[in-house]
Amino acid sequence: RNTGERHSYDVVVVGAGGAGLRAAIAAHDAGARTAIVCKSLLGKAHTVMAEGGIAAAMGNAWPEDNWKVHFRDTMRGGKMLNNWRMAQLHAQEAPDRVLELEEWGALFDRTKDGLISQRDFGGHRYARLAHVGDRTGLEMIRTLQQRAVALGIDVFMECTITEILKDGDRVAGAFGYWRESGRLITFEAPSVVLATGGIGKSFKVTSNSWEYTGDGHALAVRAGASLINMEFVQFHPTGMVWPPSVRGILVTESVRGDGGVLKNSEGRRFMFDYIPEFFKAETADSIEEADRWYTDKKNNRRPPELLPRDEVARAINSEVKAGRGTPHGGVYLDIASRRDPEYIKRRLPSMYHQFKELADVDITREPMEIGPTCHYVMGGVEVDPDTAASVVPGLYAAGEVAGGMHGSNRLGGNSLSDLLVFGRRAGLNAAYYAARTKDSPVTVDDDAVRAAADAALAPFSEEGGENPYTVQKDLQEVMHNLVGIIRTAEELEQALGEIEKLAERSRHLTVEGNRQYNPGWHLAIDLQNMLWVSECIAKAALTRTESRGGHTRDDYPMTDQDWGTKNIVLRRRGDSVELAIQPLPQMPAELKALFEEK
Ligand code: FAD
Repeated sequence: RNTGERHSYDVVVVGAGGAGLRAAIAAHDAGARTAIVCKSLLGKAHTVMAEGGIAAAMGNAWPEDNWKVHFRDTMRGGKMLNNWRMAQLHAQEAPDRVLELEEWGALFDRTKDGLISQRDFGGHRYARLAHVGDRTGLEMIRTLQQRAVALGIDVFMECTITEILKDGDRVAGAFGYWRESGRLITFEAPSVVLATGGIGKSFKVTSNSWEYTGDGHALAVRAGASLINMEFVQFHPTGMVWPPSVRGILVTESVRGDGGVLKNSEGRRFMFDYIPEFFKAETADSIEEADRWYTDKKNNRRPPELLPRDEVARAINSEVKAGRGTPHGGVYLDIASRRDPEYIKRRLPSMYHQFKELADVDITREPMEIGPTCHYVMGGVEVDPDTAASVVPGLYAAGEVAGGMHGSNRLGGNSLSDLLVFGRRAGLNAAYYAARTKDSPVTVDDDAVRAAADAALAPFSEEGGENPYTVQKDLQEVMHNLVGIIRTAEELEQALGEIEKLAERSRHLTVEGNRQYNPGWHLAIDLQNMLWVSECIAKAALTRTESRGGHTRDDYPMTDQDWGTKNIVLRRRGDSVELAIQPLPQMPAELKALFEEK
């Protein structure tokens, strides 16, 4: 078998979103010969879709803000299951990473005094999201991409990695194929940084695009790394629900941050009925107070529409279930009756166009119909907080593919900052590690390359098998219906049975045509990853017998203190995964004290 071209680098970064680009820049700056490999065109990553902003306690809007408040908000938002050290580093380093982006040419919106403007978002005590209108991700990608290209970092785009190659226990490189030609490609490298983003495409309704098939999660687990927090999947409360072709597309949280409110079919602002005990002290309990907050944040508490995402998504789900939903099964998000058209168009230009073009709705005149959409996975590769190293020597992970940082629920804006903080750390440490291997270099085993090639090309040799699109659709139904926002043991067990059957079906997929740009073949490969990830999510969800953050069990509706001290860890065992329960790292006393203060 011809296994195609070979390239040699010190660091190969898989993924060109915010985490991958930032990692590659750091690795390059540390002297490593670095390559970026990405599945789609450069610049098309998920990061580009990010609308709201980058959370960083810069103190521009509120001098009272600082890393300690950001750290506390992040931990509380994650229901205290976050890796405390990651949350600390994130809160401490995010402001510098934002300023660095500005230095590299990012043009942020400004305050009247010329500082970087900061907007309000759910779960953040102070306005702290640095933003560029509602197109922050675009500016972030533009800036990072320009810098990476200017530094001369090699980019392999429209190139998909299908396997991590190893030399004994250590990483030796990565194997993949060019999407356009179908030709195979091998990278030899002692360090690989996974920055592949999320898993949304395993679910029927999602804000994620076709690329998010959990490749990095699956590559890591197959290479022997551990995954944590996989039961925690974030359903963003506000996705479009109509027309069907756009169902799931995100409606940014900034609509609520800028004054939009949620109403049911009876016109009731229902979020006041869903304020949990945990957030009562900091949430307005009357419409009057909530409305005053927009202009006087010092003397009023936040509107309940800005509670963390898991709370709002569950509330919407309950309203729809109780028969108070909209004609298309969502609820109303209304900014039209609350802000003038000029303000709406200025603050939310993308949302205005999105609804006008995709749904023929003018959001300056009528309410939007919205409902929960699978948006983000908190779970991912278990990493060392300081270095982003997984347990496999040479394998690093940063961004959405890494676990721990967000615990059971991520706050809005905390992903873009996570990408910058941990992307940089992953790139630096991958470069340092690669330099340390110079005395005992790794070699790529030809048999492993041939095996990876055989696995990638297998769907071409199967005859009479199933179409990958049918299996993907069935998997999305299973995940949506049985592993969605509200879960029960019975349904999760059923889901695991179904996933096993789907995995068996996926071993006999047939693809038509040849290797040149063949999306059916690409999906046949991606599907294997989606199945690994789905199994991890369902197994962890079945084991965690409590409700917390992005994991709600109808049969265990309470948050359980005991589970609050444990992580569920998944590792490969043969063709499946096994699960272990691991104690959460203990926070030092000086950080614990932050939760005792008001
Ligand atoms: P991504 O940006 O998702 O990039 C992944 C990269 O990996 C891509 O280049 C892809 O091609 C590549 N890749 C994947 N698999 C492979 C493979 N097998 N081989 C090669 N390459 C591969 N967060 C915020 O903090 N603030 C916001 O305002 C915000 N708004 C959002 C709006 C939307 C619509 C969405 C969907 C998300 C939003 N998020 C926001 C979340 C945030 O955008 C993502 O979590 C984040 O961008 C993920 O970045 P990443 O670098 O980890 O991965």
